[in-house]
Amino acid sequence: MVNIGILALQGDVAEHVRALEESGARAVLVRRSEELASVDGLVIPGGESTTMSNLLLSFGIFDQLAEQISNGMPVYGTCAGMIMLATTILDGRDDQRSFGAIDMVVRRNAFGRQVDSYEEELDIKGIEGKPFPAVFIRAPWVESVGESVDVLARAGNTPDGPIVAVRRGQALATSFHPEIGTDWRFHELFTRMVQRES
Ligand code: GLN
Repeated sequence: MVNIGILALQGDVAEHVRALEESGARAVLVRRSEELASVDGLVIPGGESTTMSNLLLSFGIFDQLAEQISNGMPVYGTCAGMIMLATTILDGRDDQRSFGAIDMVVRRNAFGRQVDSYEEELDIKGIEGKPFPAVFIRAPWVESVGESVDVLARAGNTPDGPIVAVRRGQALATSFHPEIGTDWRFHELFTRMVQRES
């Protein structure tokens, strides 16, 4: 069984633990360097990306995580976690840092502050079966991607809708929160990525 860490400095950690365990992985909370070094893959949860960036720096694990990601450790970011994986952040804070694991420009709170949350059934490239129930909470979207990035879903299921799910190699990111609810297909996909089977 693979060990998948959930970065547990801040954010919706418990929901990811449940989703990963339902998907056949062992879920491990990660706050310290030794814990980070012991996992086969890592989920960066939703929360607040500016706070997460600060906490990673003050816990002294930002550089270690950056190195593990650049060495090919699978990583999955949801919402704030997606922002943490971007190369460029729009509407961020000046001192906010990110890992640049996915060549993309992400806009924070892109759906507008007045729209706190909404839900939409999305068609996802590479995910079989019925549309995926996607829950957005003060979500970012992806404004542009580099050639190496695979676009998996767009809001509204239209070709010109904002990009809300992407993958580049062993890095996966969604604007929405698949850990909320009972549909584990994203966590199953990520578990297969960690098992090097997808
Ligand atoms: N708006 C948050 C941020 O900028 C993300 C919201 C979320 O993760 N639910 O980090």
